[in-house]
Amino acid sequence: MKAKCKTGQNLWQRAKKIIPGGSQLLSKRSEIFLPNLWPAYYQKAKGCELWDLDNNHYFDFAGMGISSCILGYADPDVNRAVQFAVDNGSMATLNSFEEIKLAEKLVDLHPWSEMVRYTRSGGEACSVAVRIARAASGRDKVAFCGYHGWHDWYLSTNLSSDGNLDGQLLPGLDPLGVPKSLVNSAIPFYYNDFKSFNNVIETNRDSIGAIILEPVRAKGPEKGFLEHIRKVADDIGAVLIFDEVTSGFHNNLGGIHLTYNLIPDIAIFAKALGNGFPIGAIVGKRDVMDIAQSTFISSTSWTERVGFAAAIATINKMESEPVHESLNRYGSLLKKGWQQIAEANGVKIETSGITTIPNFRFCYENSLAIQTYFTQEMMSAGYLAKTGTAVTYAYTEEIINGYMEQVDKVFKKIKKGLSNKNIEKMLKSEIKHSTFKRLTGVQE
Ligand code: PMP
Repeated sequence: MKAKCKTGQNLWQRAKKIIPGGSQLLSKRSEIFLPNLWPAYYQKAKGCELWDLDNNHYFDFAGMGISSCILGYADPDVNRAVQFAVDNGSMATLNSFEEIKLAEKLVDLHPWSEMVRYTRSGGEACSVAVRIARAASGRDKVAFCGYHGWHDWYLSTNLSSDGNLDGQLLPGLDPLGVPKSLVNSAIPFYYNDFKSFNNVIETNRDSIGAIILEPVRAKGPEKGFLEHIRKVADDIGAVLIFDEVTSGFHNNLGGIHLTYNLIPDIAIFAKALGNGFPIGAIVGKRDVMDIAQSTFISSTSWTERVGFAAAIATINKMESEPVHESLNRYGSLLKKGWQQIAEANGVKIETSGITTIPNFRFCYENSLAIQTYFTQEMMSAGYLAKTGTAVTYAYTEEIINGYMEQVDKVFKKIKKGLSNKNIEKMLKSEIKHSTFKRLTGVQE
């Protein structure tokens, strides 16, 4: 363990008393990494490096800002554009001209599209897209697969049974506070599962107005799966939405759907689009998007300048430097590296994820304890790590090699711990949480 990283944990305990859940984002809770020992807060982030509140230094192999900082933390080119926007007024009575520049860029990158709206966060953008789809189709029900944010339309899935989100990214979410009248308005199906999709369609053919999914997440689409969904959406008159909040701009310039040659009616971007600065975009065909001026969709902060400036600078850098070539190379190195090290040490893992957001899972019953141990031991060597990351342009092969050497050392210890059946005893922390939980045990 780092000699001193207590300041962050002390602050985290204070946070949980004054901020319900401690943070605005489930994925930033200490409990999902290393309960009571995670550094929790940073004072500086640059490239792929972070310094915690006790000035400990880490390389980030734990997601790079929940997969948003694709060019690296505090990228100088993006920061320069943002600084210009700040220095020249990031908010005003008039609009920021960058809105149009970015919209034209996004439409150029996605030649099937014609119009763009903006938000700040990914979940908001999903909510806007669903509203537009409902308005355009004149129907209420949404067929979906995967995670699409915290909003009522999505959480209502669990109103009829708290098991309805099982098999999606975040199972078991409690729809407390979501109007019960929304029951059965969002209906899940499973990725690559034709049968579950067809069942949803057969029983709701005339009431589904939107179909929303990530074109790819843990695994790529099976032959014909996305094509089938496209065809069914057309047959029943539903709007097809690709949620690219996470997948967009990682493997390639724009939506990953471009690499599958499949056209949705709307695609949603956020996260990497602004290299961590808040910007969400809803990009779509004119006949669907135009309805957004009939239904009311409007917010002050969606006009703020920083997000547009950051997104334009991010895309410009991706166009002018070999960003995606590097990201794909780094992602492949990580996936291959984990596989080779696991095999060499006799540790059973399974890798998944798109090339630039690779991850693995420990194939053991006590995998949560093993994950916690992995994070603990990687952290003691100066790596923020979990079982996967989003790669960043700020990595180098040297940094990745250093990380892999440490992974090798930790996998050797894991093998030993597994053989002696004492991984749990090797933990200095409680076992990490697997998913959403109320944070109890706040220290007084
Ligand atoms: N959709 C997908 C596919 C996501 O991965 C996420 C975030 N993980 C969201 C929507 C929600 O985005 P945000 O956290 O920016 O609201």
